[in-house]
Amino acid sequence: MTKSIAIFGASGSVGSAALDLIRRQPEAYGVRVLTADRAVGKMANLIGEFKPAYAVMANETAARELRACIDGPTQVLSGPDGLIHAAQCDYDLMISAIVGFAGLAPTYAALCAGRDVALANKEALVCAGALIREAAQASGARILPVDSEHNAIFQCWQSQHRSAIESVQLTGSGGPFRGWTASQIRQADLSDALKHPNWSMGPKITIDSATLMNKALEMIEARWLFDLRPDQLEVVIHPQSIVHSCVTYRDGSTLAQLGCPDMRPPLAYCLAYPERAPLGGQRLNLTDLKGLTFEQADEDAFPTLNLARTAMGETSPAFSLALNGVNEVLNAAVRKRELPFGRLIPGICEVMAQVPLPMIAHMDQIIAYDREIRDISYQKVRAWSS
Ligand code: NAD
Ligand code: MG
Repeated sequence: MTKSIAIFGASGSVGSAALDLIRRQPEAYGVRVLTADRAVGKMANLIGEFKPAYAVMANETAARELRACIDGPTQVLSGPDGLIHAAQCDYDLMISAIVGFAGLAPTYAALCAGRDVALANKEALVCAGALIREAAQASGARILPVDSEHNAIFQCWQSQHRSAIESVQLTGSGGPFRGWTASQIRQADLSDALKHPNWSMGPKITIDSATLMNKALEMIEARWLFDLRPDQLEVVIHPQSIVHSCVTYRDGSTLAQLGCPDMRPPLAYCLAYPERAPLGGQRLNLTDLKGLTFEQADEDAFPTLNLARTAMGETSPAFSLALNGVNEVLNAAVRKRELPFGRLIPGICEVMAQVPLPMIAHMDQIIAYDREIRDISYQKVRAWSS
């Protein structure tokens, strides 16, 4: 039977990888929804190729432009309401691959409506982990982790032995500044930060990988996906990006998942779950590997990891939410060259030391607090750059 797929963030790096897999197995998958921010030309081509029932653009201007250049029955919607409407329509699996806080509302809407979600948008869990988990539990929807580390943990996670799981080793390449001191990183340039050693990804996550904020967000993501205490989660720097993460059991066994650094295998796993679909392409040749190395993360150079540990220990989501909001604003300012890259890690620490931390529980409070944090962060960027 054909599985119908809704791709949120279809024009991005993860969305394109998912479409590549769907293209290879037209008998297995159909596309029901495609969404993008503003990439009208790309979306018009994708609509011609995949003929989804719904397409959603981030605003009405882009939606109008798109309507003018397509024909056929695809209904073009726009804005946050359009995303939620499409998230609630009938399909089998959402690929949640919008970047940032904008991905939270459609992901939450999908889970509340009982749709299974293959989750790449880690920011959704960072900002509203408890609500996301509750929504999935209440509706019976499944969350399948796309993020390569969490996908690896999921594959090594034997749920019948949940109570026997001792710890999880979350691996990370260390990014382009592995081995640099804090003061060297303060001198680094945006062009250095954009050179990720192993992965080709969208611009925001590439910068997050240079500050290890990506790993910090992934720690919080792992907490919510696998219900881990902070002391059960270890970050291990593994520059070759071959071991995608490990699970250690109380009898001393450690299970690891290995693979080439490519998002297609974890996406293929989510698309076919619980089956295993064939996927051509690169294979790991163990005898070609020149050695796998593992080292501790340097938390002095990358205090982003400490911030994530604090977030994991908090009962209110305010700290995680603030960390995400401050990072989104400062990361974007760096990419727009409003702030030098070297200012990013110290800037995040400075704002995080000053943000108010109210008790937050509901989605409307999450949205309001995110806005407040963004306002504080924009003011800081303006003050630093004036
Ligand atoms: P990207 O920038 O390449 O793509 C982002 C997508 O989101 C695009 O389709 C864009 O049009 C859409 N988008 C952006 N802002 C939007 C908004 N305000 N409203 C609606 N749509 C919007 O990003 P990416 O690298 O594909 O990453 C997507 C998500 O997956 C991120 O949360 C990232 O952390 C996660 N992720 C990515 C990778 C990777 O290899 N790229 C790996 C693991 C996890
Ligand atoms: Mg990852």
